[in-house]
Amino acid sequence: MSSPVPYMGKLCCTICGDAIVPPTHQLSEAEKWQAEAVLLSDPDREFEQLEEHYRDGKKHNAQRFNISATREIRKDRAHVIEKDRLRIITADENGDVSTQQEEVKSNRSYGHEENGEWVVTPYYIATHAACLEVAETAMRRSPHDIAVRDLRTLWKVLRMRFKVDDTYLMSSTIDFIASPQRIQLPHSYYMPFRLAPILSESFPGVVDGNLERWEAAYPLNIPDMTTAVLENLRSLSPAVAAIPEAVSFQERFLALPPELQDHVCSFLVSRNGMSSTCNVLLPQWTWREVLLRGECLPFLQDVDIAVVRDFCLRWKRDNGSREPNWELLVRKLSQEAWSIWDAESSSLKVPNGLRNRRRIWQLVEEMYVGDLVPVKRVTLMNSGCVSVPRYWDERGELMHPVVRVHVGSRDKLRSIMA
Ligand SMILES: [Zn+2]
Repeated sequence: MSSPVPYMGKLCCTICGDAIVPPTHQLSEAEKWQAEAVLLSDPDREFEQLEEHYRDGKKHNAQRFNISATREIRKDRAHVIEKDRLRIITADENGDVSTQQEEVKSNRSYGHEENGEWVVTPYYIATHAACLEVAETAMRRSPHDIAVRDLRTLWKVLRMRFKVDDTYLMSSTIDFIASPQRIQLPHSYYMPFRLAPILSESFPGVVDGNLERWEAAYPLNIPDMTTAVLENLRSLSPAVAAIPEAVSFQERFLALPPELQDHVCSFLVSRNGMSSTCNVLLPQWTWREVLLRGECLPFLQDVDIAVVRDFCLRWKRDNGSREPNWELLVRKLSQEAWSIWDAESSSLKVPNGLRNRRRIWQLVEEMYVGDLVPVKRVTLMNSGCVSVPRYWDERGELMHPVVRVHVGSRDKLRSIMA
């Protein structure tokens, strides 16, 4: 049995919060994705330039610094060697891996001397390659008003989290907790609660040692995902389907041109999820189309249309005119993060990889620059009050004047900006 908290003491992905592991032979097929890392870095060094110009936010009355960072945030494939040391994987145009692979440290500022000159190493931030792919899809496809829409803004979110964390560590008197890092997120509740090993041994009846860590499941290319999602479908009661108001509304809806029907369905987006109460106003096939088109449930963009078609044929053969309740399925799928606190008793039975993808998706949708609100650390060493400069607003736009704010003071920041 693996530890209930296997990320403890390991380098962790800055997007999902779980461990990035070295690519050893002991990894199972299901675990291998967690060894595939990407190192993000900024060739324009925007954060460092702002640090220098505003002297960490302490240079009052500094002129506005209109930095133009035009280059893309770099993405380098990498593998963990040990703790926060990684090896960057470089390949030629044929895909052959180079033997000259650079070794770097993640999530820290450092440099080295080269030919008598001090060379500053880029600040690297490590993520799982798969989590970054989920994040980039969420940034592109989320139908909601989210703060992070591009890689540079994502970088600013992650870089400011480390700024906060580093400031906390510097304010403590003991530095052994500095490495390797795992940022404790304010919304860390998306990582399900696991009892520490010592507790699970003390209360063997409380914890099933065979519980799978669904939060460590591969979030891309999920086998049999569509079939598993469709298994949640239930029959629509004929009595409910025949409610006169619903029948009358459906007649009027079906009389609309297809463009207007699509427009009506485009409003079936809810950031906090739709209620599970079905009103059967729309025909069930429109709810099925909502699922297939993936606009309202964009984390399900890879639903297999052929599997759905086969399912519908089979359903018709087995159930006759009794329809599946697509409305209830879409409503449940829209609901916020599917009770991920307690996946085992969730009303939706979905593959672990999909549940993890939903968790990562939610984490990305909730990100904003300056979002790290440190709870009081479980240590006596740190000081009570930590402040950091705010170079950007929540969506990554430059701010002026630059002020230092106490972390966690989102309301205070807003009052400064107002
Ligand atoms: Zn991850």
